[in-house]
Parts: sequence; C-alpha cells; structure tokens
Amino acid sequence: MSRAKSAQLFRDAKNLIPGGVNSPARAWGSVGGDPIFFKRASGSRIWDADDNELIDYVCSWGPMILGHAHPAVIDAAVSAARQGTSFGAPTELEVEMARRVTEAVPSIEVVRFVSSGTEATMSALRLARAKTGRSKILKFNGGYHGHEDALLVEAGSGLANQGIASSAGVHPDYAAATLVADFNDVASVRLLLEANEGEVAAVIVEPIAGNMGVVTPAPGFLEGLRDLTTEHGALLIFDEVISGFRVALGGAQSVYGVTPDITCLGKIVGGGFPVGAYGASAEIMSEVAPLGPMYQAGTLSGNPVAMAAGIATLDELSKPGTYERIQAITDRLADGVLGVFADAGVPAVVNRACGLMTVFFTSNPVTDMDSASATDREAFGAFFHGMIDNGVYLPPSQFEAWFVSTAHSDADIAETLDAVARSLSS
Ligand SMILES: *Cc1c(COP(=O)(O)O)cnc(C)c1O
Repeated sequence: MSRAKSAQLFRDAKNLIPGGVNSPARAWGSVGGDPIFFKRASGSRIWDADDNELIDYVCSWGPMILGHAHPAVIDAAVSAARQGTSFGAPTELEVEMARRVTEAVPSIEVVRFVSSGTEATMSALRLARAKTGRSKILKFNGGYHGHEDALLVEAGSGLANQGIASSAGVHPDYAAATLVADFNDVASVRLLLEANEGEVAAVIVEPIAGNMGVVTPAPGFLEGLRDLTTEHGALLIFDEVISGFRVALGGAQSVYGVTPDITCLGKIVGGGFPVGAYGASAEIMSEVAPLGPMYQAGTLSGNPVAMAAGIATLDELSKPGTYERIQAITDRLADGVLGVFADAGVPAVVNRACGLMTVFFTSNPVTDMDSASATDREAFGAFFHGMIDNGVYLPPSQFEAWFVSTAHSDADIAETLDAVARSLSS
C-alpha cells in the first residue's frame, strides 16, 4: 500500500497551511505518522490520493450517516446549486428545513441556522447570557463544544491529544467565567452551582459525550442536570452536534426523556455541508435579533445548497426502521470487536450508543475524561496503524468516536473484524 502521493501532498500542505491541516483533529499527532489525503468516497468506502480503498469509520466526524455521496443527498444539492448557491435573503428551503427540525427535536419550537457547530454553541451561550443576565458557564471536563473562547477549557478531543488544558489566546476573563465539572458526576455540578449562586447562565453538556471517546450518561445524570439548573435559575444546553439525528431523529433528549432549554445541532443537520443550528422554545428564541436584543447573524446562514442536502438527509433518516438498522449495525460491530479482543486476550472496553462507538484499551469502565485518559493510548496508536494497513480508516485519536453509517454492510463489518484480528496479532 503506497502512500507516496499523500506524503507529497502533506509536504506541500505543511508549507501552506498550519500543520498541513485545516482542523487539528485531522493531524495524526497522537497516533504518529502523516495524515492520509483523500480524494473520493462512496457509501462506506473512501479512496486516498494513492487510490488505496478503505472502509471509513470517520464519516467526516458524523455528517455522513447515510454513507458518502448518498444519491438522494447529492441530487438535492446539485439541483439546488443549479438554482443559485446563495442569495443572502430568505428561501423556502429554510422554512422546510426548520419545519423538519422543530418536528423532530422535542425542545426546539424555533430554530436559527448557522454555518458550523461552533457557531451554534457560541450563539447558544450568548443566548443563555442574554436570557438570564448572568455571565458564567458550566461545562464538563472532556466536553468539546467547538472553538468558542469560553468553551476551550478542558475541552477533550483534539486538545487532550496535545495536552492543552485551555487554548492559548483565550481572554483570561472568558476562561475564568467557565466552570468545569466532571461528566456523570451530579455532585460536582451541585457544588459549583452553589459556590457561584446566581452567576451561572448555563450548563452545557454533550448528553452522550463523544469527544472523550463515547461515554453515555449514567442513569440519573441528565435528570440531575435538569433539576439542578431549574433549581438554580440556569439554562440547560444540550450540545447535540454529534448525537442529534444520530442516536434518534429527536436526538439524545428523545432517547433519555430529558428536555433541555436550548439545543445545539451540527454535523448531520447539513447533510455533509457546513450547517449548524441552535433552537429552543419560542419564548427563549424571542431574545434573538431581529426579534430581541441578542445579535447573531451570518452571510451564508441557511444556505440553499446545504438546506437541500439537510432536508434530503432528514427525509432518508425519517424512513421507518432506519434507527433500528443503525443500532443493529453498531451492535454487530461493537459485539464483534469485543469478541475478537477476547479471542486475542487483549483487554478492551467498548462504549457505544446508536451509530457511535469507541474501543478503549483498558479493563476498567470508562465513564468520564479521567477514566478515558487512564487507558492505554500507545496501544491505540499501534492498533490504529494496524487497521489502516488492513484497509480500515478509524479516527486518529483514542478520544474520538467511530461513526457508523447506514451504508456499512455485513460484509464491511466482517472485513473490519478480520482487520481487527490481524491488527491485534501484529
Ligand atoms: C464537532 C463538534 C462541535 C463543533 O462543530 P464544528 O462544526 O466543528 O464547529 C461542537 N460540539 C460537539 C459535541 C462536536 O462534536
């Protein structure tokens, strides 16, 4: 398997783009080696610049839940593009898309579309501050919410790989206004809310953590957050940028039956194009300009090509049996991986939710960022390279989820499990 073309492109890229990548999660810093450059993808498969074919479990970090280049999504995007790619004025597609989102997600009556998950969480925080008149934010160790200043503290994922607790360049006042609790630890939240009584605008959480690897909420955790935020007059923000439309059409909030005040969406909502969204009750959203005093805007927001792709994606996902299928594919893969590890005598913990899983090299449960950090990441690095050499592309980090799509077939899973067995034996 030659990667000469990728290597050449990376050499060129490093001279032109910081670290050769436009998002640090794409670099292979924590697993070693140079990133592969890709040129084409279809269904569950992706082809690199040297024409090597791989089974893809990154799926663009979530958006490609229908597999790559799904015909219905591509057709919708292409026909929208032929009508003009942006008007900077309202379109019917935005209304159609808003209707689908508000019907699907329990907490959202009114929604604003933006162009990334970062913009969604950034705007949600501003909205929470506007609504409550308070300034502090509480997040969780290992929770990633995009690169907004106030949220780049103990932010898991890409930062954890580089040992960055808080990004350089963040205004100290922002970092100081961010409180950090432990995921799955309601008591740590209670203590912080009591110590900062009347000052916390919002608690922001990934209801299913996806950026410390996958960690599901312990029974009572989300309910505890709901009760505590209500009790202390703070708003509860669910960052469903990963879990939205992935674990169910209504997101994690519909699975766990806990309704947040504000919901952030991204990734799947754009069908592979740059879209984010934040939504809440009509009352909370009335703070947002032009209705209210909280300003938030975007030249390309609600972009017609992206809206068309999003609508086509949600329509496919709405077909009966879709999530049962995604769950079944995830279970087959997760159970299969566990079996292969057991046969090889290698201890592993596999955390999973519908369409998401992470394999940790440990025999201890992984329930928060500390337990995720205590796993054998060097072993993961070696495993990652073994999987690439055997035709499977995984996220290049222990702290990320493997993303499963409706395009992953039984044959793909069988091939993946063979690759796991070969990687473990080498
Ligand atoms: C990816 C992600 C974001 C940021 O979205 P971008 O589109 O990369 O800005 C925010 N929150 C979570 C949970 C994410 O996984």
